[in-house]
Amino acid sequence: SQIYGMEVETRPTETYVDVGGLKEQTIEVREAVELPLKKPHLFEQIGILPPKGILLHGPPGTGKTLLARAVAHETEATFLRVVGSELVQKYIGEGARLVRELFESAKKNAPSIIFIDEIDAIGASRGQETSSGDREVHRTLMQLLAEMDGFDNRGDVKIIGATNRIDILDPALLRPGRFDRIIEIPLPDVEGRLAILRIHTKKITLADDVDLLALARVTEGKNGADLSAICMEAGMFAIRDERPSVTRSDFERAIRKISADFDRNKVSQM
Ligand code: ATP
Repeated sequence: SQIYGMEVETRPTETYVDVGGLKEQTIEVREAVELPLKKPHLFEQIGILPPKGILLHGPPGTGKTLLARAVAHETEATFLRVVGSELVQKYIGEGARLVRELFESAKKNAPSIIFIDEIDAIGASRGQETSSGDREVHRTLMQLLAEMDGFDNRGDVKIIGATNRIDILDPALLRPGRFDRIIEIPLPDVEGRLAILRIHTKKITLADDVDLLALARVTEGKNGADLSAICMEAGMFAIRDERPSVTRSDFERAIRKISADFDRNKVSQM
């Protein structure tokens, strides 16, 4: 459901099986977020504090949100998602209040995972700020830092931030007790692309001539979101031609289409 700038979900349905590639990253996220929620006694016994927050960074469409949702599923946690740019642009003057409400609802509905997408929109270091009003952005960031400092590492609220601009983040965000675990989520390599293609073709009827490994090889540079779109487009070509299964040539056409869309977007951003 949408509560005023915040998406709240009781327990997302995605699981780790839905995440292609990212093996090591999944282990790291599980240790930093899932383990402290499920087995806090392990941390007490050894005498270290689990992280309050972790930061996922890397190019768009690589599975940051997906991974965060899978952790929430596994821990049976409430998933609260906000988008940094919306906090300061869509609800002008309300950023700080929204952050306060976000943490309130997380505590009320614990265990919970707060996911802050595009955290760079509120957490860019000064002098790097976007056009959305420096003061507003700064106030929102201060509120976020205050909220993070105000709760216990041992509690059952965890924060996951995501960004593709880690280079411009204010170092204050990355201090101990804040986002003190940083995990890179890169573009998938050929093995990762194969895993992602397998996931997104699981329910698709494939013709015998489809070779997923060959498709993984020719999609260098594509992210998970692109690969998912390619599978869907390939399916659409088969449906349009009223064929019972999706062929290799459908995939080839889909790859061309997605790449053309991509190039067009690149041109329009120049
Ligand atoms: P953004 O930075 O744009 O928010 P993101 O890294 O959070 O991107 P997601 O929103 O998780 O990316 O990915 C979008 C969609 O692309 C997912 O819902 C999924 O369908 C597909 N996808 C992306 N990465 C993967 C992956 N590693 N495995 C399987 N599917 C993926």
